[in-house]
Amino acid sequence: MINKFFNVFSLNIFMKMGVFFVRKPVIAGNWKMFKTVSESLSFLDKIIPACKSLHKVEIIICPTFLSLAPMAEKAKDTNILLGAQNTHWEKEGAFTGEVSSYLISDLGINYAIIGHSERRGYFQETDEWVNNKIKAALNFNLNPIVCVGESLEERENGQTRKVVETQLAGGLNDIDLNQAGSIIFAYEPIWAIGTGRSATSSDAQEVISFIRRWLSESYNMETAQKVPILYGGSVKPDNIGSLLAEKDVDGVLIGGASLKEDSFIEMVQIANIS
Ligand code: PEP
Repeated sequence: MINKFFNVFSLNIFMKMGVFFVRKPVIAGNWKMFKTVSESLSFLDKIIPACKSLHKVEIIICPTFLSLAPMAEKAKDTNILLGAQNTHWEKEGAFTGEVSSYLISDLGINYAIIGHSERRGYFQETDEWVNNKIKAALNFNLNPIVCVGESLEERENGQTRKVVETQLAGGLNDIDLNQAGSIIFAYEPIWAIGTGRSATSSDAQEVISFIRRWLSESYNMETAQKVPILYGGSVKPDNIGSLLAEKDVDGVLIGGASLKEDSFIEMVQIANIS
């Protein structure tokens, strides 16, 4: 009893001091431009019962905009959370084809992926746009999942830290301490996305601990210890365990392997006991 009291007591002190935070693992699926509305709903029908007792993991699915509203309705009162894959920073207006954080959060959606390398690459999104989107998401109570990561050429030239640092500094410009604490970060090396070539768990740990140090220096240690930092890039059931075993890897952002119910459930189960 005394031991238990002492453990809880010292844990509280450490948490208050910002020395130690228990970060719940996050499994986030990025469905990209896949799955019709009915396919998305039938995926939910399978995973809701399979995941319902798995409370030690945060489960997030980011489907297309079309599926967000019906999925939000079906996932209500379950432990499956939803996120958008992109947002526009204006509240509303003449921006044909865009969807704003304001409109997304009205559906009861909790998250939005911002700055994915496919958006940065194919749609020329700059760090300034990423910054605007993060600010708007936070203003409308969406938790941004902010992606950063280097290309193969940048890695081979030894520029990984410089690239990641530039993306962090640009994306978080003028974002204050309280707001930064609501962000999830995802280190997603471009060369690992959709290629089947994952970063090794020690490479992921190395860059993610660099991101945590950068947050500690730019904000404070408490914020750096509190925020989840995920790894993304060719995560599958057979490599997720070793990635999650790394000290600073708090979860994963998964593209391809999140599209199949069985592999998604398997990865959630592994994270739940990690
Ligand atoms: C992604 O799209 O964010 C991603 C990590 O994709 P994949 O898992 O397919 O590499």
